[in-house]
Amino acid sequence: MISEKMIGYVQNSSAIRAMFEEGKRLAGIYGAENVYDFSLGNPNVAAPEGVNKAIIEIINEENQTAVHGYMNNSGYEDVREAIAQSINKKFGTAFGLRNIIMTVGAAGGLNVIFKTLLNPGDEVVAFAPYFGEYRSYVANYDGNLVVVSPDTKTFQPNLAEFEEKITAKTKAVIVNSPNNPTGVVYSEETIKKLAEIMNRKQQEFGTDIYLISDEPYRELAYDGVEIPYLTKYYDNTIVGYSYSKSLSLPGERIGYLVIPDEVKDSEMVLAGANVANRILGYVNAPSLFQKVIAKCLDEKVDVAYYDRNRELLYNSMTEFGFACIKPEGAFYLFVKSPVENEKEFCEAAKKHNILIVPGSSFACPGFVRIAYCVSYETIQNSLPGFKALADEFVK
Ligand code: PLP
Repeated sequence: MISEKMIGYVQNSSAIRAMFEEGKRLAGIYGAENVYDFSLGNPNVAAPEGVNKAIIEIINEENQTAVHGYMNNSGYEDVREAIAQSINKKFGTAFGLRNIIMTVGAAGGLNVIFKTLLNPGDEVVAFAPYFGEYRSYVANYDGNLVVVSPDTKTFQPNLAEFEEKITAKTKAVIVNSPNNPTGVVYSEETIKKLAEIMNRKQQEFGTDIYLISDEPYRELAYDGVEIPYLTKYYDNTIVGYSYSKSLSLPGERIGYLVIPDEVKDSEMVLAGANVANRILGYVNAPSLFQKVIAKCLDEKVDVAYYDRNRELLYNSMTEFGFACIKPEGAFYLFVKSPVENEKEFCEAAKKHNILIVPGSSFACPGFVRIAYCVSYETIQNSLPGFKALADEFVK
């Protein structure tokens, strides 16, 4: 029999698979174009032209055994140097290649850093609503996820409760901005207060508390909103970045960790992360795509496409009477469920061939997540269904 821990994961993942199967079933009956699947954060905007160009150039021009070979577990040195310089240029930081570890997407990076930092029983604080996989990533290393309840007015972190939840066992705090599932960007004011609390708690307990900034949506921001670069606000900050959304490459599994020199015991953390990449079985981040990334550091996906979707969906939903915050980043709209049990609302939406995710998947029941990384037409065609739901449920 499989392990007890895995039984829970299998049950949970069947719920997600059930949604996927439901989408397929509905598409079989009504035609794929009449099913409005807003359940997945899978980008529908193509990777920029430069990505294909880079792949072809690398394949045609570089030494093939080097392109497909093993390298240092932290990644190619020239790639890491190019990434460090690109971050420095954007944010006025002073990183070098030693601070960058190439990872298998954001998920790989988070697993590497939790493997590196956590002793069994260590606590990792997350702010609800949060990306549900954090729970598994922390449990992988026998850590405990401690959840700060959401501020459902602003969806900024609830800092009063945060302060109470930090203990002598707190090893790390994870934040995600722009946020999945709310699209909220944590303001500079929030970050300054968060840093102040963490510094104070480190002193109070005589411990090191690492801030992990999970930022796969950094490039997906609207209306010129500023997204603070957290290493500048708190010394013990580690950044996890990914190209899954910023270059629409989720299947290629490529990202990196930034571990600054200012981080407590940075040399050991870097050495640990290097070994973790190997012993978790990743060995190294995909070699071809490390090289592709280095050639595409100034490329961007068409953020205007998501912005257009955002405007249409947000304006329509609010006009229908649904309550939601206008997202400033990422590609999710987090809508208050008009009925207390949001799962009932998700079921009702299915009757209109609309697939959306209950907020309880993000530790925030009473809300639903609509992923608008779909075609504009999908949103347009789904609107009569949302209108009918509003007529039925919104008082
Ligand atoms: N973190 C957040 C907040 C996410 O939304 C996702 C994916 O949707 C990930 C991490 C994992 O990203 P990746 O595909 O780069 O592993």
